[in-house]
Amino acid sequence: MCGSDVFLQAGGFTGGPMPIVPGHEAAGVVEEVGPRTTGLTVGEQVALYYIDAPADSRYARRGRPNVGPGVRRMGVDVDGAFAEFVVRPAATLITPPAVIDPVVLAVLTDAVATPYHALRRIADIQPGETLLVLGIGGIGSNAVQLGRHFGARVIAVGRSPNKLALAQRLGADVVLSYCPEIEELVREATDGVGPDVVLQCAGSGRLDTLAIAVAGWLGRVVLVGTSTESFEARASSFVWRELSVLGSRGFVADDIREVMNLYLEKAVEVDHLTAHQRPLYEANEALEDLKSGRVLRTVLVP
Ligand SMILES: [Zn+2]
Repeated sequence: MCGSDVFLQAGGFTGGPMPIVPGHEAAGVVEEVGPRTTGLTVGEQVALYYIDAPADSRYARRGRPNVGPGVRRMGVDVDGAFAEFVVRPAATLITPPAVIDPVVLAVLTDAVATPYHALRRIADIQPGETLLVLGIGGIGSNAVQLGRHFGARVIAVGRSPNKLALAQRLGADVVLSYCPEIEELVREATDGVGPDVVLQCAGSGRLDTLAIAVAGWLGRVVLVGTSTESFEARASSFVWRELSVLGSRGFVADDIREVMNLYLEKAVEVDHLTAHQRPLYEANEALEDLKSGRVLRTVLVP
């Protein structure tokens, strides 16, 4: 369970069918296969890719099944994995290269794959660049460890001391507590030039504005946190700095494959994501835990 489930419950995904079984970040075991299914064996472990793109999607053909019309999202558009069983198209199931603890495999599919997609595919972050991560939640914490893995210098901004300590443990070079002077603090921490990449994970119009204001020359501001609030910017900010503002929506199946490998190589850790587990019937309590900020994730174990 992640922030998107809170967003779903609050009515953030408009136009979808209701009621719906949530659950888009999941792993499991193949229980049964359809008569024309090939390449999957009963009993096999799989990660679930939550998106099923239309067969004729021109975006899927370009390797981006996560966007475009007719995209069906498990747990948003079709019933999801807060369940003992879920029916999925075989093409959306991914077999890990080695058996992975199912609780770990579940969180790799989104909590790690989302910042991976944002940093690798959208920002195209390079070794030696400076990465600013705004918001140290389920996505931001992993952006910190992936940024470090990609050879960036990482500055993490968060509110709670616990989350800043987590960012430090996951490899942030600088941690800054969010405060009214945060823009100046980030500038000081980057020798006055601003970060090369800003990953905005906090889902707030005010922090979107900050992200754009503080980014450096040739900067890429990647919006990952889903906010419906407006933000402020001037054309001059973009022109003078050749700044780009980019959206990053979820991830693609190859991102899951790549983060599974990173986990098996011990390049990323997930203890902070798997520490809270509850039985499926405590899904409502898990939602409350997330809303209160007490946890980054809860893994529901049917
Ligand atoms: Zn999620």
